[in-house]
Amino acid sequence: MSVNNPQTREWQTLSSEHHLAPFSDYKQLKEKGPRIITKAEGVHLWDSEGNKILDGMAGLWCVAVGYGREELVKVAAEQMRELPYYNLFFQTAHPPALELAKAVCAVAPEGMTHVFFTGSGSEGNDTNLRMVRHYWALKGKPQKQVIIGRLNGYHGSTVAGAALGGMKGMHDQAGTLPGIEHIPQPYWFGEGGDMTPDAFGVWAAEQLEKKILEVGEDKVAAFIAEPIQGAGGVIIPPDSYWPKIKEILAKYEILFIADEVICGFGRTGEWFGSDYYDLKPDLMTIAKGLTSGYIPMGGVIVRDEVAKVLSEGGDFNHGFTYSGHPVAAAVGLENLRILRDEKIIERVHAETAPYLQKRLRELGDHPLVGEVRGLGMLGAIELVKDKATRARYEGQGAGMICRQHCFDNGLIMRAVGDTMIIAPPLVISHAEIDELVEKARKCLDLTLEALN
Ligand SMILES: *Cc1c(COP(=O)(O)O)cnc(C)c1O
Repeated sequence: MSVNNPQTREWQTLSSEHHLAPFSDYKQLKEKGPRIITKAEGVHLWDSEGNKILDGMAGLWCVAVGYGREELVKVAAEQMRELPYYNLFFQTAHPPALELAKAVCAVAPEGMTHVFFTGSGSEGNDTNLRMVRHYWALKGKPQKQVIIGRLNGYHGSTVAGAALGGMKGMHDQAGTLPGIEHIPQPYWFGEGGDMTPDAFGVWAAEQLEKKILEVGEDKVAAFIAEPIQGAGGVIIPPDSYWPKIKEILAKYEILFIADEVICGFGRTGEWFGSDYYDLKPDLMTIAKGLTSGYIPMGGVIVRDEVAKVLSEGGDFNHGFTYSGHPVAAAVGLENLRILRDEKIIERVHAETAPYLQKRLRELGDHPLVGEVRGLGMLGAIELVKDKATRARYEGQGAGMICRQHCFDNGLIMRAVGDTMIIAPPLVISHAEIDELVEKARKCLDLTLEALN
């Protein structure tokens, strides 16, 4: 990136002198300096050099209603004046949290009646871990402690969140927790070998049953999974996967936690990924789209049967200073109003997601592309050396090269290994989808040129 604005250099110096960045290669960051994002509007960002960039990732999957929403600013300011902070501990509450709890349950799958608020998705998953163990203890089965997650699943970056997730890099660096097991992911393109997608989907689902039997049903508290793995690379399971998992879950007495942090609030064209796949979770983790990222907030939506057991159980020794923060709750409430009143999810479902998916698949003819998949406002492009064998450009960092070309050409696409992924704001227009796909094609050309 060429730097012309002297302020950019100043900020980059601050970065290297004082800031430790999340999920960044520190050595590289120090050499290159971060790109400084200074403002945003709609689906576009501007950096400190004045470059306009189409945000194909909606920040980190979160800016559902797009940038620059004055309504959200207004309710935040009003709430700060009225009651900037109070907590929900020790038998107190405040109107924004209670009203948001009602609004969230109104759009949640049937029977999910209660919400526990947190400050983030990771905290939501920490809450899940403690809540399901507490639940089983209250049911007289305290030995049901083990939670089964999936390899390459992502459930956040707190200790419990990272342990529930199956990100090897995270486990290798800081360890994990006892009492958490992982099964393979339903990633056909990467791991399906010679199997058909459906055969592989059934195989991957059967690993859950195998694990339950291995650990012992009497020791398993819950299974946690994203309806579609996001950070793992927008992994859309084969059609056979979720029906088989549902069959297995119905056979055993364990809870199912759907991590809806990405899929929730419209990303699939339904309110929740669990609606799209007709899952019947007992708990759902939420965050990101809940407030469109304008302010941090997360939570856990709980099925009535679970809430009933908890409500008869005395103290739940868990909570955060910012659980249900009034300003965040006010923003969440207004964000849900916007999603509802502007029929944003209906539009994604009927118009923009089908258009995005159709346009994105046109990239499948590119020589560098082994597969294009997607669903709703989610998409993935697999970069390969050989389309037929799905062989990669081993060790050449094709994904990173592509990501850099995207940045330099005004598009944010994220790279997960050699998988390019997108998750634009839900409000993206047809013309902006055209812009996204055209820029993506150009960057694929540039990447192919760089690789050869
Ligand atoms: C982002 C994410 C989380 C973690 O949320 P934070 O707000 O970053 O703590 C958890 N689960 C999934 C599926 C996510 O994508």
